[in-house]
Amino acid sequence: MEVKLAKSAGFCFGVKRAVDTVYEQVETGKKIYTLGPIIHNEEVVKDLEEKGVQVLETEQDLTKVKDGTIIIRSHGVAKHVYESIKQQKLEYVDATCPFVRKIHKIVEEESSKGNTILIIGNENHPEVVGIRGWSQSEAYVINTLEEAEKFDVSVEKKLCIVSQTTFNYNKFQELVEIISKKRYDIIVLNTICNATEERQQEARKIAKDVEAMIVIGGKHSSNTQKLFEICKKECENTYYIQTLVDLDFDRLKTVGSVGITAGASTPKNIIEEVQCKCQN
Ligand code: SF4
Repeated sequence: MEVKLAKSAGFCFGVKRAVDTVYEQVETGKKIYTLGPIIHNEEVVKDLEEKGVQVLETEQDLTKVKDGTIIIRSHGVAKHVYESIKQQKLEYVDATCPFVRKIHKIVEEESSKGNTILIIGNENHPEVVGIRGWSQSEAYVINTLEEAEKFDVSVEKKLCIVSQTTFNYNKFQELVEIISKKRYDIIVLNTICNATEERQQEARKIAKDVEAMIVIGGKHSSNTQKLFEICKKECENTYYIQTLVDLDFDRLKTVGSVGITAGASTPKNIIEEVQCKCQN
């Protein structure tokens, strides 16, 4: 069977860097905490728990930590969280994705000039919560066309628009267009990361060419669900699995070619297991 594995399958650069950081820190033998689960993958979080890594779910949990190393995940955190860590005299390792860190800097700089920040994204997403926390004045968040239509705040200088890194580019443009028609003097900074888009494009291309397609990822992972939808459109014979255990290999026995892709929180070893099984 010919096997086509997507180069973009699995962890993006920022997630890989964050997960590798935790495993490196485990080796130091110190108490390790992550602010929120390092990744939305049960197997990885469980493996890290077994190695002694504790997940701090809230900022309140952070205040209870007396010693050890705090790891900031790829989503990043608000400025005041760094201040709390320093006040508590805790060590920390910053695994914020550099693309997210860049948005923090923009937001801090622009707000310090007196400009008002508007973030396009999901206000409850940890990345957006973190970005918002770098603004020196109140920052606003919109996520839908209706919210863009209704947006009406008084702005002293300019309105600086940034985006959540995983926001859909076309939707970002639509929302910016609505805001542009209002009376604001605006600065638009497209801060969308193209890792998600590249992964989807590659999956679509492979799915068009193969007789069966395997999409690997957590069942609650929205980016994996989206990958599955994209592949299913191109290749009727598409299977959504979490690990090799879910793969009904009998169904693939008669196909000549199979494609494999995986969501952003799927570890490499799970992808390789599936790849090996298909090749043997
Ligand atoms: S900004 Fe891009 S590379 Fe960084 S964690 Fe998010 S998706 Fe991954």
